[in-house]
Amino acid sequence: MQQTFEDAKVPATPEVLAGLDRWRTLPVRQQPTWADPAAAAERAQELAGLPPLVFAGEIDRLRARLADAAAGRAFVLQGGDCAETFAAATADRIRARVKTILQMAVVLTYGASMPVVKMGRMAGQFAKPRSSDFETRDGVTLPAYRGDIVNGFDFTPESRAHDPARLVRGYHTAASTLNLIRAFTQGGFADLREVHSWNKGFAANPANQRYEGLAREIDRAVKFMAAAGADFDELTRVEFFTAHEGLLMEYERAMTRIDSRNGTPVDTSGHFVWIGERTRQLDGAHVDFFSRIRNPVGVKIGPTMTPDELERLVDRLDPDREPGRLTLITRMGAGRVRDVLPGLLEAAKAFESTPLWITDPMHGNGITTPTGYKTRRFDDVVDEVRGFFAAHREAGTFPGGMNVELTGDDVTECLGGSEHIDEADLATRYESLCDPRLNHMQSLELAFLVAEELAS
Ligand code: PEP
Ligand code: MN
Repeated sequence: MQQTFEDAKVPATPEVLAGLDRWRTLPVRQQPTWADPAAAAERAQELAGLPPLVFAGEIDRLRARLADAAAGRAFVLQGGDCAETFAAATADRIRARVKTILQMAVVLTYGASMPVVKMGRMAGQFAKPRSSDFETRDGVTLPAYRGDIVNGFDFTPESRAHDPARLVRGYHTAASTLNLIRAFTQGGFADLREVHSWNKGFAANPANQRYEGLAREIDRAVKFMAAAGADFDELTRVEFFTAHEGLLMEYERAMTRIDSRNGTPVDTSGHFVWIGERTRQLDGAHVDFFSRIRNPVGVKIGPTMTPDELERLVDRLDPDREPGRLTLITRMGAGRVRDVLPGLLEAAKAFESTPLWITDPMHGNGITTPTGYKTRRFDDVVDEVRGFFAAHREAGTFPGGMNVELTGDDVTECLGGSEHIDEADLATRYESLCDPRLNHMQSLELAFLVAEELAS
């Protein structure tokens, strides 16, 4: 008898299915407190019935790309907002961010002469961990903003209430963001021939002639390829993956589906999910849940991490030492990276793990100005990146990528860079609802610096 599509489906075992809900029995941090838990359960049920956002085959392809990066054959660029918002999910804003990431990728590809795996902190980066559950302004205390998928930023009781309808709105916003990303990256927008147009900003700034030089070289190389008959239509299609912090357990659980080809669970909310610094407890809900999905997973590693704890974390998340499975995203701070990272790199060698190491040069470098702005110094960001490269060079391991908070817009949220943004400038255009992002120019400048490190 001929086998039908239905017959070919491999179901998950009862143990696998039960495992996906084991997190519910474990301590779980940073979750919403819904006023009406039954309404939240209904929304999660609704999500579970909606189509996947990303597909198992794409996830497998990403795992192979990350395995290349872990082995030193590619470099990973993850970039995007600290917190995406529903209001900023417009065509212009999404296009600007994709463009910034693609431009950085061109600089890195050229500088390092190796493939760059491009990933947005996009199409799902809606939930934020907070250091306090509450925020007080002028004597009024309300729940803290936890990202658009939980509550609103406006400082009113209505807006700050945790609203389960936002779970579904988060899904639809992710879907339309992803739709646009797929269109931009498949439809010819990523045109290398535009490279000369983004050199212009550098030309205006005498401090940046060295970037201008590299940009001019890339421009020449592109012209050479064009003259030699390169198929630019083919080159305009790029692989682009999505990533976000896997924080909101109800959302990630509802988006997790069984891959009918092999009966294993995949989280279809994004290609790559990472566990944050605040939710990576070994006995906690997040580590348990994300250990059970087949996506490549990341985990943030701050300066308090010890070799012993790292080994236990790796054993939980990557027991089989599978290439491309686990990414360790280090965020030590410029002042700590040179002290803490070398010991962890050596330790990982000893327990026979070859994870992908990525630097997040943002989250260990936050400062608050006297005027109350949360910001970061561009120089500290660069210094942490340099420390990351130095530690890997010393250990003989591979500095496989970076995760940066950036936007394609000309915001003034981080200090310094070629435009010399100073404290007084922060007020000009500070738009982030959460952490400060590199603006378009600062992002490109960082890419040029990293390209230099990779080439050296
Ligand atoms: C983030 O990446 O936005 C974040 C909250 O990072 P971390 O968990 O490293 O603090
Ligand atoms: Mn952040």
